[in-house]
Amino acid sequence: MSRCLPAALQEALRPFEPLQGEAIGARYLGDVLGNQGEPPLAVLRPRSTAEVSGILRACHAAGVPVVTQGGRTGLVLSCLPRPGEVVLSMERMNAIEAVDPDGAWVRVQAGVILQALQEHLEPLGLTFPLDLGGRGSCTIGGNLSTNAGGNRVIRYGMTRDLVLGVEAVLADGTVVDSLMPLIKNNTGFDLKQLFIGSEGVLGVITRASLKLVPRPAEQAVAFCATRDFAGVRALLRRVRAQLGSALSAFEVLWRGYYTAYATLGKGALPLPDRHAFYVLLEASGSAEEARAQRLERVLGEALEAGEIDDVVVAQSGAQGAALWAMRDAAIEVSRTLDPIVPFDVSLPVSGMEDFVADMRERLAAIDPRCESIVFGHVGDGNLHIGVHRPPDVAEGYDAITRTVYDAVARHAGSVSAEHGIGILKRDYLGHTRGAAEIALMHELKRTLDPKNILNPDRILGR
Ligand code: ZN
Repeated sequence: MSRCLPAALQEALRPFEPLQGEAIGARYLGDVLGNQGEPPLAVLRPRSTAEVSGILRACHAAGVPVVTQGGRTGLVLSCLPRPGEVVLSMERMNAIEAVDPDGAWVRVQAGVILQALQEHLEPLGLTFPLDLGGRGSCTIGGNLSTNAGGNRVIRYGMTRDLVLGVEAVLADGTVVDSLMPLIKNNTGFDLKQLFIGSEGVLGVITRASLKLVPRPAEQAVAFCATRDFAGVRALLRRVRAQLGSALSAFEVLWRGYYTAYATLGKGALPLPDRHAFYVLLEASGSAEEARAQRLERVLGEALEAGEIDDVVVAQSGAQGAALWAMRDAAIEVSRTLDPIVPFDVSLPVSGMEDFVADMRERLAAIDPRCESIVFGHVGDGNLHIGVHRPPDVAEGYDAITRTVYDAVARHAGSVSAEHGIGILKRDYLGHTRGAAEIALMHELKRTLDPKNILNPDRILGR
C-alpha cells in the first residue's frame, strides 16, 4: 500500500497543512501502553469544526480512512494508525469556550485535557466530576467517544450521564450541532448518545456541553478489611443506604493485590495482610455529609454487625491520599505478575465471587502458573484483572483471553466495562451483544459512514 496521499487528496488537504513523512512526530504512532501503529499517510491537526468538516469531506471523496486521536490513552488499540490511514489529531481544538454557573454547564472543544478543565473550574467552586488515571493527558473528546468510567461512577455515573450536548462531524463532512446545554430536551432522538461510547466510528466529536457539579467541600476516606465476599456485599448495601449520595467510591482489592502491593515497599500497610478482601471507601459532599466522624459511625456499626473485621478512617487529607495511593498503584501492582494479560469486565455484584472462582479454576487448567490479581470498582460492578501469562505456554494469550471472556459470558457479564472494544476486544463483542444488536450496529455504521472511513475495523469487523 502507498505511503503517500493520493494526488487529488494532497491538493484538497493542502489548506489544512498536513504533516507528512519525516515531519510526523513519533507520538502520533504510539499509545500510552507503548503499542506502536504504522506510519500514517499524513497527520491533520484542525483548529476548528469547519476544518474537521473540510478534512473529512476531502477524505470521504477520496475514500481514504481516518483515525481520530485525542490523548492516546485508550487501552484497546483504537488510536494506533493502521496501514493507509490519515491521523486526525484533535490536540489543537483545546479551547474552553464558555462556563455557565447558573445552568451548571461548560462548553469545550474536544481536545481539552480533562485535568486542564478540572483546574479551570476549581476557582469557580465547580467541577466536572469525571476522574480517571489518565486525567493529565486524556481529552474530553476521547472521554466521550469511549464513554469513560473511572473512580467516581458510583456517585456521578459514566461519562454518558455527564453530557448535555455534543457537536459531531459525520464521515462526509456534515456538521451535526446537538450542543444545546439543556437538561430537559425531549425533541425526537437523543442524537448525542449515538456519538458517545461509539469510539469515533459514527462521527468525530468536535465540541461538547458538559454538566458541572459543586466542588465537594469535604472528603472522608476509609479502608476496611473483610474475611469474605458476603462482608463486602453487606458493607456495600450498608454504606449505600446510610451515606446515600455522599458515597463517591467503593473500590475493592482482593488479597493478592494487597500482598503484591506490600512487596513494592511503599511504606507501612494501613491494615495487616491477612484478610480476604480490602475496601477503599470515600464519602464526599458538604461538610455535614462527608464528615469523617459520620463515616466512622457507619463503619463502627458495620464492625459490630460482623460485616467487616478491621477498619481505619483517614484523619487528614494526607492520610486519605495515602490510602488512595494503594489503589492508584494498580499498574505497578499488576506488573508484579508480568507478563500479564489485562482485563476490564462488568458483572452483577452478587455473582462476582463465583465468577472469580470459576475463572481461576479454568485458568489453572491452562497452567497452574496463570495466577491473577483482581481489584476494581465493585460498587459499579466493574472488575479489573491481570492474569500472568507464562511466556513458555504456546498460545497462552489466546487461551487466557478466551477463558476469561467465556467465564464472563457464563456469569452474565460484559467483556468491556469502561475501556471500550476497539481492535483488542473486537472478536469478543458477541460474548456480550446479541446477533440482532450487532447487526443493528453494522446498519448504523453503513448508514452514517457508507465508505467506512471513520476508525475502520474498530468495534466492528467487516
Ligand atoms: Zn477502572
